[in-house]
Amino acid sequence: MPQQVLAMRDFGYNRAQVRRGQVFTLAGCRNDGGLLRHGHVKAFEGGHTYQCAVCGRVYAAEGFRQRCGDMDGMSEAERLAEQRPTVVERRPAVQLAQGWQR
Ligand SMILES: [Zn+2]
Repeated sequence: MPQQVLAMRDFGYNRAQVRRGQVFTLAGCRNDGGLLRHGHVKAFEGGHTYQCAVCGRVYAAEGFRQRCGDMDGMSEAERLAEQRPTVVERRPAVQLAQGWQR
């Protein structure tokens, strides 16, 4: 039975970008178990949800929907800058090194 979960952070999942606070259904991907184990998602127990009017993502709280709407309004460049490394693809060491050169 498909499991509904709540995202605890932003990450890439099943070729889409999942955002913190988002409620979605696990698609049976190979890393589903890892997402739960590492705390990137937790089981959604049900309750009221809020849908983003811009992109259609569903959230467990109004604040997360608000943040999503703000992100949807960003330019593509701003959105890319906001993105965190995905669960499966770690941020390349090169980028990390650049981050420390200030
Ligand atoms: Zn949205």
